[in-house]
Amino acid sequence: MKIFCIGRNYIDHAKELNNPVPKSPLIFMKPATAALTDGKPFYHPDFSNNIHYELELVLKISKNGRSVQEKFATDYYNQIGLGIDFTARDLQDSLKDKGHPWELAKAFDNSACIGNFVDKSEIDVRNISFSLQKNGQVVQNGQSSDLIFVFDYLISYISGYFTLQTGDLIFTGTPAGVGKIDIGDNYIGYLGDKQMLQCTIK
Ligand code: ZN
Repeated sequence: MKIFCIGRNYIDHAKELNNPVPKSPLIFMKPATAALTDGKPFYHPDFSNNIHYELELVLKISKNGRSVQEKFATDYYNQIGLGIDFTARDLQDSLKDKGHPWELAKAFDNSACIGNFVDKSEIDVRNISFSLQKNGQVVQNGQSSDLIFVFDYLISYISGYFTLQTGDLIFTGTPAGVGKIDIGDNYIGYLGDKQMLQCTIK
């Protein structure tokens, strides 16, 4: 299982970190060992003092595919869920300054918290609202209609470089409102008004 992630896929988030809005998708990956599932807690690692939460819509790939045309891309995923892309922002900033890859900041163990999924047929994929509560307060609010690169385009683009395999996941990018996690925090993700993800920081 591979985890693809998209950076800067919402204009308001690109702006909050003073990044340019990309002209093509910014892709990075996390290994299978990054997956944190079944509502397990996230144990704060000590290599970072500034880990951020990033709530994202996640697509589950349901069919193997290579160089998929955008008009057929919808056939390649069957479920949508929520995930948190935990990011060691301090490491990422220093890696970015040096022009180095982001793996240490993005792909570490348990950095991909994965919640529940719903069948794509149950929702209007172009109009999904999602939100994150931190300790009972809403900190992120997103809309799939605000995506710079839509799901079908992402599937087509990624599959031009990497063979998609059943079970692969695509984290589609975070809206504005990212912030630092602290030990003791509790995060709950909602798809519409349905709770889909829960994660405690230990
Ligand atoms: Zn992200």
